[in-house]
Amino acid sequence: MSKISRTLSSAVLATVIAAPALQASAAEVNIYSYRQQFLIQPLLEAFTEETGIKANIVFSKKGLLERLKIEGKNSPADVLLTADIGPLHDAVEKGLLQTLNSDLVNSNVPANFRDPDGHWVGLTTRSRIIYASKDRVKPGEITTYEDLADPKWKGRICNRSGKHTYNLSLIGAMLEAHGEADTKTWLEGFKNNLARKPQGNDRTQVKAVKEGVCDIALGNSYYFGKMITNDKKPEQKAWAQSVNLIFPNQDDRGAHMNISGAGITKYAPHRSEAQQLIEFLTTEKAQRIYAEANSEFPVKEGTPWSPVLKKYMSEFKQDPVNLQRIAAQRANAAKLVDQVGYDN
Ligand code: FE
Repeated sequence: MSKISRTLSSAVLATVIAAPALQASAAEVNIYSYRQQFLIQPLLEAFTEETGIKANIVFSKKGLLERLKIEGKNSPADVLLTADIGPLHDAVEKGLLQTLNSDLVNSNVPANFRDPDGHWVGLTTRSRIIYASKDRVKPGEITTYEDLADPKWKGRICNRSGKHTYNLSLIGAMLEAHGEADTKTWLEGFKNNLARKPQGNDRTQVKAVKEGVCDIALGNSYYFGKMITNDKKPEQKAWAQSVNLIFPNQDDRGAHMNISGAGITKYAPHRSEAQQLIEFLTTEKAQRIYAEANSEFPVKEGTPWSPVLKKYMSEFKQDPVNLQRIAAQRANAAKLVDQVGYDN
């Protein structure tokens, strides 16, 4: 065992060893992905068909940044794919990504969903929205993230851990909009309104609304699509049917947005193929496949929404703030979560 790997936690090491090795060679591109394979595979097949470039993928739920760091210049990875801005931001901080400057990407992806320095690009978008009980919350009763701190909701809101990456980005957006003092007051009020200690994932919260544990939940927008179409677990359709979807802050800055995205690794052996892949993923053809697979919004303007999104959601105002600014607030957001004891 090398000196470097001996310093790793056993969990990280297990991930590193368990993931299959990728061999570098010509006319191919190697992807390290936090996005699940079933979401990506149809896109990679379309990419290979169009370009002749073979695309290899290693999927892992965690440990990919650590793996890139250990492998350093010997890494076979060319592209990092993530399901959230958080890991992309962390990868930039760790010096694991290089810049991409592509006119095609720059014209396909709105500037607020790209790193101003070119280290990452958004490929799909989602909003963090309010799921409100159809029975117990009247339309118009809650319209903003700020309302989550209103004492009238005391004991009526469910949320997952404040430290989860989705919530850190939302709190980061509040920091960007209001500054630290007001955001801390807001987070305290929000915490005081929770029906129970934060637990579970986004879908768990909507289930709790259906079951009457709380009246309001926070969740990413695509989970609605995943629940309402869930033939394998039809109980989730009932959870989704019990709520109205509220895209917050439509009368001011717009709903908080997040991305799934990609970046080219610092030592990519197939730099050109990596760029071609990311460019392909921003084209309308790929955008339709990618967004539809997970009920997300295409990042490229003008790309039609999936039938499910069209049926249940309508165009909404998005917070135009650059995600890099929100990502830069995530450490502060985590600090506030601790200070107000959000998860306690
Ligand atoms: Fe998710």
